[in-house]
Amino acid sequence: MSETKSQVENLKLTFKPVWQQMDEIDVKATEAYAKEYLSFLDAAKTERLCAKEALRQAEAKGFKSIDYYREKGAVKPGDKVYVNHRGKAVILYEIGSEPLENGMLIVGAHLDCPRLDLKPMPLYEDHDIAYVKTHYYGGIKKYQWFTIPLAIYGSVFKKDGTEVNVAVGDGPDDPVFVISDLLPHLSQEMVVKKVSDAFKGEAMNPIVGSRPLPDEEGDAVKAAVLKWLDEAYGISEADFASAELEIVPAGHAREIGFDRGMIGAFGQDDRVCSFAAISAIFDAGTPAGKTRCVILADKEEIGSYGNTGMQSRFFENETVELAVLMGEHSASLATRRCLANSKCLSADVTAGYDPNFTGTHDLTNASFIGYGVTLKKYGGARGKSGGSDANPEFLAALRDCFDREDVVWQMGEMGRIDLGGGGTIAYMLANYGMDVVDCGTPVLSMHAPFEQAAKPDAFMTYKAYRAFFRYHWA
Ligand code: MN
Ligand code: MN
Repeated sequence: MSETKSQVENLKLTFKPVWQQMDEIDVKATEAYAKEYLSFLDAAKTERLCAKEALRQAEAKGFKSIDYYREKGAVKPGDKVYVNHRGKAVILYEIGSEPLENGMLIVGAHLDCPRLDLKPMPLYEDHDIAYVKTHYYGGIKKYQWFTIPLAIYGSVFKKDGTEVNVAVGDGPDDPVFVISDLLPHLSQEMVVKKVSDAFKGEAMNPIVGSRPLPDEEGDAVKAAVLKWLDEAYGISEADFASAELEIVPAGHAREIGFDRGMIGAFGQDDRVCSFAAISAIFDAGTPAGKTRCVILADKEEIGSYGNTGMQSRFFENETVELAVLMGEHSASLATRRCLANSKCLSADVTAGYDPNFTGTHDLTNASFIGYGVTLKKYGGARGKSGGSDANPEFLAALRDCFDREDVVWQMGEMGRIDLGGGGTIAYMLANYGMDVVDCGTPVLSMHAPFEQAAKPDAFMTYKAYRAFFRYHWA
């Protein structure tokens, strides 16, 4: 090959599947990571369970509650602090040696997923079948939730404040629940409708019973279900009013393909990034220069509203608490400077290109399955509207950061111009003035009951976050 040719080759940006860039050791590490991730998915089917599992792992790694440090009165470099925010959002801090106002390194993910929530008065009976009414949460394609095995998870709070944990559908001998669908023989009218008209939210009522109580008059099946709920959980119909019960797909996270190259599971948006984020802060190693931080926020799928969502002040409030514990004389000013000087990876999944559904992406700017963690410079839709657009200065440093630790990464837009798009928590963190960019795993079938991600992309997401925490930021 001529010298001129090779010089030109060096100017080109080339891509190769991650598997083909890995040696035997990398492959082993990827498989080991995937195994841990599969268990995490099974332990974390709701935001509460995800928060609980993240905190359990954090405690095992030496993180202590911020309440413990508040009693102690101070934190010092190397201390590991967690915040359990109402059991549904989590913050982890690893205190660095630099002053807080130099800024933190933040990886921010979310732990809520699209699903079906039980309505506050869910239970009813129709023609001797007992059902629960649901109101779907987040952006779903409704038809995907019919005729698949479903589980119920959640918390019921009794009037005296006692919490009752409900979990039915994933135990080895558990029954499951299901939303029925019309048989093809009687669907001539249904199949010519628009999909959005054929499947209605008010029809998403899973079956929960069919055996009437003997000798009971009227709604005898519902009565039997209530009796079962009382015996199993000590809850009555009125207790549904103070409950958060969620319908999620039943079944475990699985490997996909003869070669087991991918992972299939409910809730990979955004538990693939949540798991990568906590694993990265656990493994980043000491000493931290800048304080490291992981945020696992709730309510991202419905706009980040509410007191556990990223639009609430909980993260800011806890960071002021941290500033006090770090001995800042003006904690409020130190926090403002800290947030403005922070760097953040908004850790969320992106839409990988799906060869079965062409025309969704500009293929020169798409994110591909198996090609590594994706940096998404901007989100938004129709002219970047509503998007957070990352600064190229920050992206330049990230390229260096990732390349130093052999992170395989790609740039990707969410989809082609004017098709759609999606937001993450990036813009809310950018509101503080910090540098933020979306950085996460490409997935297929996002928001479906069984989403797909490639093992090496999940592993590269973890490696990217770990490299970010380790990098010597100016
Ligand atoms: Mn997401
Ligand atoms: Mn989502």
